This record gives sequence, structure tokens and C-alpha cells, in this order.
Amino acid sequence: MSHASAPVLVIHGGAGVIKREMSPARERAVRAALTLALKNGYAQLKAGKQAIDAVTAAITVLEDDPNFNAGKGSVFTHDGKNEMDAAVMDGSTLEAGSVAGVHRVKNPILLARAVMEKSQHVMLVGDGAEEFAREVGVELVDPSYFRTEERWQQLQKALREDAGHAKHTDVETAKHFGTVGAVALDLQGHLAAGTSTGGMNDKRFGRVGDSPLIGAGTYANSGCAVSGTGWGEYYIRTVAAHEVCMRVTQMRVPLKRAAAEVINQEIPSMGGNGGAIALDADGHVAMPFNTDGMYRGWIGADGVPHVAIYGDENDGTADPLPSGDSSGSP
Ligand code: ASP
Repeated sequence: MSHASAPVLVIHGGAGVIKREMSPARERAVRAALTLALKNGYAQLKAGKQAIDAVTAAITVLEDDPNFNAGKGSVFTHDGKNEMDAAVMDGSTLEAGSVAGVHRVKNPILLARAVMEKSQHVMLVGDGAEEFAREVGVELVDPSYFRTEERWQQLQKALREDAGHAKHTDVETAKHFGTVGAVALDLQGHLAAGTSTGGMNDKRFGRVGDSPLIGAGTYANSGCAVSGTGWGEYYIRTVAAHEVCMRVTQMRVPLKRAAAEVINQEIPSMGGNGGAIALDADGHVAMPFNTDGMYRGWIGADGVPHVAIYGDENDGTADPLPSGDSSGSP
């Protein structure tokens, strides 16, 4: 049941940050982009727009910023292409839309939303997704738009490593995350989640990760919304985002505990790693991760953006956030 609430927006720009590889300039740019994403998304919530509007507003900022592995700045496939995935889910209706394996869609999150709102389907891939984008007027660009020199060099490094090993180790893989995501709670008490990614560096072409798979990297219902980032294969096998939400809404496990159990216990116990952001209908926030850092941020009732990168940084979620009217809580 929905109820009036104080709006909250939580975002991530990917797990797997390596502290010693961050320059002060990169750090500043990342913090500025996270802050802008929070402000743009929160403005939607303050204006009475839906949670899904805040999610797509925040994610498009991060897709357009080359510092994140989504939209411009996406990682490369083994054969040197940018191949992107994205999904959105509206927790109040359980409607969802997603796209996978797109090469020309400037903002894949907007196409995922169009799939949800303007098609009879939940998921479109590859050429079919791009043809649909053309039909509904979602912007297409030349594939060269997504290329950055830094991502290209990351691929070259991985290709050199490939020559030596059959599989990436955890540490190598962790360097290649950087997916973006958002979860929001609007004034009506509705939740939504969204995730957008270039996937994993050096992935095989045609590989689809967890981000566009509803329930794996992205999920929202009336009581919980989650967006994940990390080694996608493990998020798929644990149906991670759905698993967190089921613990919260069906088993009544507090959000922070549920998110920590799945992200920091279940996934690592299988050999995976990464992080997630989660939000419940009372405005509680969880941002667990088991990598060096996770680009992350949230903005709540006071309208002040909070951003953090590293694990030892106070991200302001140690104490419960001021919650809205919890009388109708799940
Ligand atoms: N989860 C994403 C994937 O496996 C990668 C990431 O989070 O950066 O495609």
C-alpha cells in the first residue's frame, strides 16, 4: 500500500574502484558527476514526479559521463566493441523494461524505459532493440561516440593478460566494474530501480550480464528496490536483486541485513564480488559492497547530496535515515 513519504534517491556508479589507481582529478570528476546525478534525480522527486523519473534522470547523467562504465565510456568487448545493457522496473506496477547488446543507443536506460512503456515486451536485444529505438524516437548515435581511450587501453591490458591466463582472477575482474544504477522512493511512496552498463571489460560479444535481467541486477516491488554492480554471472545465479527484496518484503528481514547477506555473504561464498544499492518503502538505505570501493551517493529529506567512493569513507548511512510516514509501511 502506498503512502505519502519523504523522497529518497540512491545511486551507484559501480563497485571495483581501486584506491591507488584514482587520481585527485578523477576523484573530483566522479564526485561532481554523482552529485549532479543526485540533484537532477531529486529535482524530479521534489516536483512530484514518479520514482521512475528520478531513476532515469540520475542514470542519464552517469551514462553521459565518460568516467562510468555505461553509455559513453562503456568498456569494450573482446572484439573491440561497446555493447550495452540496461533495465528499469517500476515497483508500484511491477512493470519492467530492458535492453541488451545495443551498440548505438546513446542512453540505453531511456530505451529500457521505452520498452516498458511503449512495447508489449519486457526485453529487447541487439538489432531488434535498435530498430525499436528508431521507431519510438530514442536517440541513436554512431558507435564511435561511446569510445574512450582509457577503456580502449583497459581492453588492451586485458588482452595481454588473456594471453597469459585462461580466466581473470577476482582482482583483475574487480578493476573492470563501473556500472551505474539508481533506486528511488517518490512522494507517493512508490519505488523504482534502474541499472545501465557496458558490461565487463573483455567480455565475449553477445555476453549478457545481470544488469538488464529483471531480478538479477535490477528489481523493484512495493516494498524494496535494488540495483547491483559486480561480477554479473554471480548476480544472475543468485538472482541477487530479487533475493534481497524477497527477504525484505516476504521474510521481513531489515533492508540492511538482507542486502548484506546476499551481497557480502552469498555472492562472495560462491566466488563472486561487487556491491548494490537498496532502498525500502520507509526510506531506509543500504549500500553494501565487498570491493575496495563503490561510487555511491544518496539524497533524502534534507535535500543534501551525500557521495562516497571508498570503503573506509563515511557515506552517512551508518544510522537510519530520517524516514517518511511509516504508517503504511510494508
Ligand atoms: N554487473 C555488470 C555486469 O556483469 C558489471 C558491473 O557491475 O560493472 O555486466
